Amino acid sequence: MQAYLDNAATTKPCDKAVSATVSALTETYGNPSSLHRAGFLAEELVTEARKNIASALSTQPECVIFTSGATESNNLAIIGSAKTYGKRKKKIVTTTIEHPSVARTVDYLEEQGYEVVRISPNHNGEIIPDDIVSAVDDNTFMVSCMLVNNETGYILPLKKVFTAIKRLYPECITHADCAQAFLKVPIKFSELSADMISISGHKIHAPKGIGAIVLKKGVRLLPIMFGGGQEKGIRSGTESVPLISAFGETVKEYTPTLSNAINNANEMNAYLREKLAKLPDISINSTEDICSPFIMNFSVVGIRSEIMLHFLESKGIYVSSGSACSKGAKSSVLSEFRITDECIDSALRVSFSRFTTWQDIDMLVNGIIDGQQSISR
Ligand code: PMP
Repeated sequence: MQAYLDNAATTKPCDKAVSATVSALTETYGNPSSLHRAGFLAEELVTEARKNIASALSTQPECVIFTSGATESNNLAIIGSAKTYGKRKKKIVTTTIEHPSVARTVDYLEEQGYEVVRISPNHNGEIIPDDIVSAVDDNTFMVSCMLVNNETGYILPLKKVFTAIKRLYPECITHADCAQAFLKVPIKFSELSADMISISGHKIHAPKGIGAIVLKKGVRLLPIMFGGGQEKGIRSGTESVPLISAFGETVKEYTPTLSNAINNANEMNAYLREKLAKLPDISINSTEDICSPFIMNFSVVGIRSEIMLHFLESKGIYVSSGSACSKGAKSSVLSEFRITDECIDSALRVSFSRFTTWQDIDMLVNGIIDGQQSISR
């Protein structure tokens, strides 16, 4: 038996994703740019996927530009915006809790001479909208923030932040990294006041290597890669029709049941919290109500994350120590959330998906109880 509880790292592709991939690989293998029928059929799959993704975000298909994933979308959003809007204006505002695909990209811009302002959460581990808004000025060409944090599930108040910024500085580009948010929290593109958002397929049961940047109508973005001019010239390269089609089919499958999925995740999250509350030496790092129900970060105090992770693995239970992207390195993002060093050393991240069962959670809780009894401290 196995309990896969590392869905913020990646998810199992759903049946629709697998069959769409295989069908495009074996039958619809034309190049969408080709002028013959094989090309036309491939293009139709891309068009259909674009419609499905646009509809999930209540926006228009022409706003969706396919990329290889949220890392590329974030790089494209930030570097592309610097090229487009950052000639005269030299400042970018972000937070200290971003994923490396945003954090390292703004570091790169800083090395190129841009001014970067990074806003920290307050003493309660919450981002105060006004802290971001008041950092923006006439010299700011962009604000880039995540909607849901990948390590704790914390949901940033981006609608408030972006709406206020757009009121004061309509020309400032607002970008949201929605990799952990898309199809996990409700997002209406226009209501977020975002000019661009990044999304990823493999966090929602589509394959790895596919994502999109969604651009508000009228927002220009210069490319960071040059080639055949696909995706309106914003992202050149032959479209990965199998992955795009799988992404579109997955989104079509899960969009109508988003509120059910959120309710289920809420119930599972509450159940896990209740069980953990009965165990000794547990500290929960994801604050209820302000975090996505799909992610829970907690510490089994006194037992190092990797030790507990591998103990659970030996029982077929897969979780993450902090963020999978940081490969076991101590998370600076967790300390930004004011989590103590002792708790960071023993932090585990559990993340749910549409496939998570109650049995998975029972297995996890029993695994932790076993671990607390058998791992010497
Ligand atoms: N942003 C966030 C918040 C993420 O969690 C991730 C994935 N760990 C990414 C960006 C990068 O996404 P991808 O794997 O699609 O490049």
